Amino acid sequence: MYKIKINGIVQGVGFRPFIYRKCTGLKLSGYVKNTGAGVEVLVDDREKFLKILNEIPPLARIDDYTIEEVKINKKFNDFKILASSESKGIAFVPPDGFLCDDCLRELKDKKNLRNDYFFITCTNCGPRYTIIERTPYDRDKTTMSDFEMCDFCRKEYTNPMNRRYHAQTVACKTCGPKLALYHNGKKIKGGIKETAELIKKGEIVAIKGIGGFHIACATRDCVVLRLRKIEKIRENKPFAVMVKNFEMLGKIADFNEIEKKILTGKERPIVILKKLNKNSLASVSNLDTIGVMLPYTGLHYLLFDYLDEPVIMTSSNLPESPITTELREQFIPYILDNDRRIVNPLDDSVIKVIAKKKLFIRRSRGFVPGAIKIADVRGVNKQILALGAEMMNTFCIYREGNAILSGHIGNARNMRTFEYSKKIINKFLNFTKTKPEVLISDLHPEYNTSKYARELSEKLNIPLIKVQHHNAHVYSAAAEHELDDFAGIACDGLGYGTDGKIWGGEVFHNNERIGSLEEHVMLGGDSSVKNPPKMLIGILMKFLDENEVKKIMIKLKYYKNNEINLLHNQYKENFNCLKTTSMGRVLDAASALLGICDKRTYDGEPAMMLESSSGEPYYLKPVIKKEDRWVLKTTPVFEYLIENIDKDKEQLAATVQYYIAKGLFEIAEKYKKPIVFSGGCAYNRLMTGYLVGKGVYLNEKVPAGDGGISFGQVAYFLRNGYGI
Ligand SMILES: [Zn+2]
Ligand SMILES: [Zn+2]
Repeated sequence: MYKIKINGIVQGVGFRPFIYRKCTGLKLSGYVKNTGAGVEVLVDDREKFLKILNEIPPLARIDDYTIEEVKINKKFNDFKILASSESKGIAFVPPDGFLCDDCLRELKDKKNLRNDYFFITCTNCGPRYTIIERTPYDRDKTTMSDFEMCDFCRKEYTNPMNRRYHAQTVACKTCGPKLALYHNGKKIKGGIKETAELIKKGEIVAIKGIGGFHIACATRDCVVLRLRKIEKIRENKPFAVMVKNFEMLGKIADFNEIEKKILTGKERPIVILKKLNKNSLASVSNLDTIGVMLPYTGLHYLLFDYLDEPVIMTSSNLPESPITTELREQFIPYILDNDRRIVNPLDDSVIKVIAKKKLFIRRSRGFVPGAIKIADVRGVNKQILALGAEMMNTFCIYREGNAILSGHIGNARNMRTFEYSKKIINKFLNFTKTKPEVLISDLHPEYNTSKYARELSEKLNIPLIKVQHHNAHVYSAAAEHELDDFAGIACDGLGYGTDGKIWGGEVFHNNERIGSLEEHVMLGGDSSVKNPPKMLIGILMKFLDENEVKKIMIKLKYYKNNEINLLHNQYKENFNCLKTTSMGRVLDAASALLGICDKRTYDGEPAMMLESSSGEPYYLKPVIKKEDRWVLKTTPVFEYLIENIDKDKEQLAATVQYYIAKGLFEIAEKYKKPIVFSGGCAYNRLMTGYLVGKGVYLNEKVPAGDGGISFGQVAYFLRNGYGI
């Protein structure tokens, strides 16, 4: 006999019944059972069995397996599913899935008992993580325990030959969750059809989904503008839309084979696609791109039975707060609720494809809490909790070669969001049976996450490691590609540097900072983040006189004469002026100078608008100077912009981005090592496109932005140990 131990996502995804059905069909004998860490199979024919592993169920994922020949005295006449055996190892919770083709067929089949039932699912599809209260994944430990199965469902649930054998989400119209429509707090008659009618009429409806509530509405300008008024923080922030199918998608955006595959994947993320026409759907997204997803639950498919247009589907939450899951938290007059509780909230995941590489902007529903393999190269063999940074935050748990990353949490500066993240941390520690032996935080002393790490480190009496923000970024990418000696470029907004200054356009050789962008003044400190023209004044003052700067500012209508005088004085007296090497701030300033964007209403807006307004670049030669490190001068590119300010704006916009990408690459290249590129600017298709062309590695498993920092902190520790 052969004993096969399989690791990966193999529990709660129909893996055991699948093995059972296949082995029974092939007349193999032996057993299959869940262990704490995965699945164990005993079988008499090794070759026949291994072939089965090529066609595993859609939600399952095999990371690795071992085979061992064993002598067994007991004789097996047939193939059995045995009860689970306990183990101290890590228990994996499966991520949520889409609606599978079999369920979709039943949904549309008039003769099927689950015809038109919004919560149709099976072992191959439907929610998982978002409904789990405790592990292991059994119905009584999920929010489906609120629903007593009817005889019909129970029969399927207990039949190993059925697709719904041990499908913990099994439910039907009789016994399962039910919909309820509300208007101004009162229950009204109606369901999906009525909701679709409301959307068609231009109403805005909050709809409960898998990981939380969405706000849904039509994409017409008048409706979108009303939505933006309700959600003040989203003044300009692009919304994602859901489309019925590729036919509908083809009318609004361009997509290639890679993007198509991601859109139809079992995770069903939002994919950022190039619009067919930059000016279409401008109120939904003022960029040349738009976030799009396909239906992923029965409810979505049923909505599109009545809708012939794309629908905005955006997370329902108040400014900077986590996605909402409760009826009482909704702030929209119309609500389509259901009585299935969501215990682990998750936003939709967001992916952008650049130069054929898949980049996570947000890694949440469908991917979380799937483990990412990461090698313990120095054999530190510790259980780790890394708390990440602040904006777009995630945390990461590490044990035994697995990094388990949380979903998108939001801005941990917001106390509500931060309190919420502490709760999720505890849940993850319980799910994974982890007792942290090492804590990791960002170097920034004032982040809530850093303060909490200090508090926990004292409480648990375990060491606290602090990792510099951008160094964590490059280590996240290096670890993904198993690089032990590398050069890394990290570009983003702002991060706390080891010299106490604000970094953001950095080059490293492993953990040593070897280069950066030129330092510029942030006039008014943090206030220049929201006001790119202030950043621009700081840069222009380096090579123009006061009057010339004044003329430019007045021409661009950013400031009046007396306002500029004040800012000039502030610059000269160095009052509330911070120094930064941030890439984001340089792109913001360029965006302001070219008249593209002068106000930041959401993170990254001026730089994204610059990217969106780019054509073909002029290849300006980067100026690099050796100081205590290599410094890429960015003043020359602003001199170039001023000299050519009346020429093609799209060319000028592209020139800035290529100049910086090329310059930083030239610094990194001096070290003759493999090069990685990470940080929020990795979502910029011009810079990333250029760097990928040069053979640079990117993050493809965790976000390149700050959502990947916690993973990078773990990667840093696994490669550097305790010494900083
Ligand atoms: Zn299904
Ligand atoms: Zn039922």
